[in-house]
Amino acid sequence: MKPNYVQKVTNWGNFPVVEKEIRSNDSVSKIKDFVREHNEVIARGNGRCYGDASLGEHIFSTKRLSKFIAFDRLNGIIECESGVLLSEVLEVVVPQGFFLYVTPGTKYVSVGGAIASDVHGKNHHAEGCFSECVIEFKLIDENSQVITCSREENPDKFWATVGGMGLTGIIISAKFRLKNIETSYIRQESIKAENLDEIFRLFEESEDWTYNVAWIDCFQKGKNLGRSILMRGEHALKGELPPDLQKKPLKLKQKFKPTVPFYFPEFVLNSFTIKVFNFLYFNKQTKKQLHNFVNYETFFYPLDAINEWNKIYGKKGFIQYQMVIPKQNGKEGMKQILEAIAQSGNGSFLAVLKLFGKNNPLAYNSFPMEGYTLALDFKVNKGLKKLVDQLDTIVETFGGRIYLTKDSMSRSSLTDYLKNVDSSKFVSLQHKRIVNNK
Ligand SMILES: Cc1cc2nc3c(=O)[nH]c(=O)nc-3n(C[C@H](O)[C@H](O)[C@H](O)COP(=O)(O)OP(=O)(O)OC[C@H]3O[C@@H](n4cnc5c(N)ncnc54)[C@H](O)[C@@H]3O)c2cc1C
Repeated sequence: MKPNYVQKVTNWGNFPVVEKEIRSNDSVSKIKDFVREHNEVIARGNGRCYGDASLGEHIFSTKRLSKFIAFDRLNGIIECESGVLLSEVLEVVVPQGFFLYVTPGTKYVSVGGAIASDVHGKNHHAEGCFSECVIEFKLIDENSQVITCSREENPDKFWATVGGMGLTGIIISAKFRLKNIETSYIRQESIKAENLDEIFRLFEESEDWTYNVAWIDCFQKGKNLGRSILMRGEHALKGELPPDLQKKPLKLKQKFKPTVPFYFPEFVLNSFTIKVFNFLYFNKQTKKQLHNFVNYETFFYPLDAINEWNKIYGKKGFIQYQMVIPKQNGKEGMKQILEAIAQSGNGSFLAVLKLFGKNNPLAYNSFPMEGYTLALDFKVNKGLKKLVDQLDTIVETFGGRIYLTKDSMSRSSLTDYLKNVDSSKFVSLQHKRIVNNK
């Protein structure tokens, strides 16, 4: 008989699905015992990575490490256990006039997951990765000991762990800095770009803005290749807001959200429906340029507005393919990527382009490098591996790499940039796959 802690488990892409041991505990001594007694342990936060990064033979879920430890309002420093979600941090800190320095495109990631993937947001060119705001964290290491890691204490472990994808141990708590905000609103500008030349020019012109991101219509070809909308933003000051918003400048948004009730049948999401969606999305903005104030939820987390939206891809699931191409080759690389996708007919429902600035060289395991990064969602189907191979070849030709936290099937040469993480203690299915495919 199977022990009851063996379960089916999968991450956000619902691909792959595995049956593995998964345990959770809020007692540090019990977690230490778990690490001591097993090899091939991997931490799992909220499973918002897309593929197999937080899957392994013995999964430790941090869901029960969910307590806040301290909040220093004077200096904007918060300390919490690693399973606390960024959404929970925001609920506490936004009404007090603080915001996260760096946030990914979903707020439903754990603090441990944000450190282990060293996540980036729309402000990498200006403010770097999540590690920039991390002061210290506590880690259960391969000897089953709790060690404090910071820039001063165990710095080698600190830098190996940020972006280290859980392969250096289990982060149990963390202390990090927040930024001051006057309001919970973003002063946003949305600008439509007809093609790749225009969107690249807009990115370059927008480097002074703290936040930049573009949505791209992947089905366009020829002179419209790269048709897109750039959204740039700044935290709004109280005095800038229209009078009705000034009454409650640090308001949190209403909580009601619809949920996708079931896995959509295979036929629902196809190239025709994606083309229709793209047409409507591009044309819902009738003016070339729009200025408005939006709540931070709308600006940073549009996808979080619908619970379990990953079910629209059906039961076979989907992958996210995110690559970065160095800046000097950025436009040519993206052109070839978009052409390959348009020709394959494997449309991406979501395609997001961002500009990375220089990365902190100390954070050697972090994914970003100075350049353009594109994230694409593809439904799992028979032709997908071939397309991924084709895209990998382009990325490799231009000296780019693939983001591990999104990866499910890319070639090893593009994903084996992790260093100082090899141990038999902490092993993910992703890392095994990469090592075996070398
Ligand atoms: C809609 C959506 C949008 C996203 N947008 C972005 C984005 O803009 N930028 C970006 O950078 N990422 C983005 N992501 C990816 C996401 O931010 C990362 O995958 C993040 O690491 C997920 O955190 P998690 O808590 O869900 O961790 P999991 O998905 O469970 O794990 C992710 C990795 O972190 C490790 N890990 C988790 N917790 C711990 C811990 N306590 N100790 C040690 N290791 C741990 C795991 O082993 C694994 O390697 C997005 C994901 C989604 C679903």
